[in-house]
Amino acid sequence: MYNWTRDQGQKGVTIAALSAVDIALWDIKGRAFGVPVYTLLGGAYRRRARVYATGLYEPQGVPSIPAALVEEALGYRRAGFCGMKLKIGYDLRTDLSYVRAIREAIGPDLLLMVDANHAYNASEAIRLARAMEPYDIHWFEEPVPPEDLDGYLEIKRHSTIPLAGGECEYTRYGFRELINRRVVDILQPDLCAMGGFSEMLKVVAMASAANLPVVPHVWGTGVGLAAALQLFAALPHFPERRFPDDPLFEYDRSPHPFRDGVTRERFVMRDGYLEIPQRPGLGVTLDRDFIRGFAA
Ligand SMILES: [Mg+2]
Repeated sequence: MYNWTRDQGQKGVTIAALSAVDIALWDIKGRAFGVPVYTLLGGAYRRRARVYATGLYEPQGVPSIPAALVEEALGYRRAGFCGMKLKIGYDLRTDLSYVRAIREAIGPDLLLMVDANHAYNASEAIRLARAMEPYDIHWFEEPVPPEDLDGYLEIKRHSTIPLAGGECEYTRYGFRELINRRVVDILQPDLCAMGGFSEMLKVVAMASAANLPVVPHVWGTGVGLAAALQLFAALPHFPERRFPDDPLFEYDRSPHPFRDGVTRERFVMRDGYLEIPQRPGLGVTLDRDFIRGFAA
């Protein structure tokens, strides 16, 4: 399929479509053997995923945006998340005001990540990164457009905040550049976009050879979440050491009824962790009646 479409489809929506087919095939194979997909991927390092909350998008129609963001952030702290990711990329002054307000509200112990969704050029991102350094930012995600690999390298030279990226990259060929040129400190391939399990295994192997941590990007329906949990179970440490950190799993908390209703199973966080389904395949079943309700 890739060969048929490669002339026009080396990245983007074509690869995302191939990813869906690939993930479905792994699900079928798991069901046929009666084992979870992570067993087919080599076995589980872990039975549950330590999650951080993705949210904190600028709310609309509220009297005070910083106050609303702080309230949301405190809700994540109360819920038991180990950390959270703040959407930035508005302008440098606004971004910094949100970062400051949230760090002061949640205290020093929780992880705080920021995601600019490639809103800046390198010089803007360097200014922002330096200004954010006092607020203990765990990573700075997509500071510049995904095509601007030299921009990433320039920011890396001027800031101590680790850079994360990769949700807009595809296949082993795209990730080869990110890995070999050491463009990011944390690689964030999206299983549902970059090629599915088959391609992800190759990228994880390449990343391990470069000792580059993989923190998968997870942002989609319950099917995507279930698939990402299977991958996460089998994800090695980068590097392996005597007492490795529990890796982080992205858990989108922005409201989205389709994401949550598409599977019959619900994912519930307990004590800051999501259980990884032990059922065959991806471990989820589609709610076809629910899906029909969203048909166009
Ligand atoms: Mg992102």
